[in-house]
Amino acid sequence: SRLDCFAPRGGTLAVPAQLAVLRRRELDEMLRQAALKAGARWQSPLRLEALLEDAAGRVIGARLREGESVCEVRARWTVLATGADARALEAAGMCERRAPSGMALRGYAHRPDMAGQIGGLQVVWHKALRGGYGWIFPAGGGRFNIGVGYLHRRGAERDHQGAPNLRELLAAFARVHPPAQALLQEGGAALGELKGAPLRCSLGGARKSRPGLLVAGEAAGSTYLFTGEGIGKAMESGMAAAQAIVQESGSDAGVRTAYESALASLKPRFAAYELANRFNEYPWMVDLTVWRARRSPALLARLAGVLDESQDPSAFVSAQGLLRLLFQAR
Ligand SMILES: Cc1cc2nc3c(=O)[nH]c(=O)nc-3n(C[C@H](O)[C@H](O)[C@H](O)COP(=O)(O)OP(=O)(O)OC[C@H]3O[C@@H](n4cnc5c(N)ncnc54)[C@H](O)[C@@H]3O)c2cc1C
Repeated sequence: SRLDCFAPRGGTLAVPAQLAVLRRRELDEMLRQAALKAGARWQSPLRLEALLEDAAGRVIGARLREGESVCEVRARWTVLATGADARALEAAGMCERRAPSGMALRGYAHRPDMAGQIGGLQVVWHKALRGGYGWIFPAGGGRFNIGVGYLHRRGAERDHQGAPNLRELLAAFARVHPPAQALLQEGGAALGELKGAPLRCSLGGARKSRPGLLVAGEAAGSTYLFTGEGIGKAMESGMAAAQAIVQESGSDAGVRTAYESALASLKPRFAAYELANRFNEYPWMVDLTVWRARRSPALLARLAGVLDESQDPSAFVSAQGLLRLLFQAR
């Protein structure tokens, strides 16, 4: 029912929200079942090896491999939704930038004894985590999803320079946030395997379509930069791809235009999250916002709006937004 924000200088703010934490194993299985029910065929763990093309270079399916066995799947339209790993994008000739926009690392700790101590989702900004943030998400049954993320500032993703080591960042999280320390260290034996992965954000880094092919999800950069949220956005882009194929099935150009316009219409939202990434770059902005919001129910309500996406997060970090925070605080 709330997101607890921890600012670098020790200020805290409980932002009311309706949030759900679901393990990917469960969410992905729900999606898979829904797809099967809708008529999809499940062919895993086949890997994309190459796209199939006709004489004119139009994509007409894919060659897939599992160990030594290879199969070809032909399709009127192919949707590439291979996530943040750039290799499939490269194999498809759609990669414009290999380096990711950021990275994240998470583990699950099983600490039933801490269930009463961490009620809301926690997000922690600190100069030791500069460029990103740490989180603890209670996942029910005494389990906690704990992790850190790092998001490159605009432009810096090109060469992936300056990215910290995520395990060191997680250790820094433990040093600056006692609940993280408790989950990571005292619960060492209870902490499952740590998993890290790249993030591809801001609808950048890849071409979105070519004749016969649409690129969807994180492969198309569908994750938000500031927060690293990407599940809902990946689904949204997948739905846009499906809609374009179903509604414009008569013409190649029609499908591509419909899909690319749907993504283009989301661009302002992604740009807002790109700007809001300043909270991660300059954690003192979180100090200012938390300090101000503790005194202003209206500002708190606007922050709650960021969580349900009814409020543009960049409004707080623009020069105008910061001045407003300072001015109104006096
Ligand atoms: C540590 C961490 C924590 C995160 N936490 C959150 C969160 O709390 N909330 C949120 O909204 N987002 C979160 N994200 C972001 C989120 O995971 C992604 O945005 C989201 O999974 C993107 O969905 P997708 O379907 O595009 O890609 P994925 O979920 O990565 O799926 C891509 C699939 O393609 C498969 N694949 C890859 N290459 C090939 C190939 N060559 N052939 C065949 N298949 C292939 C992969 O195995 C995978 O199954 C997190 C990311 C990380 C790294």
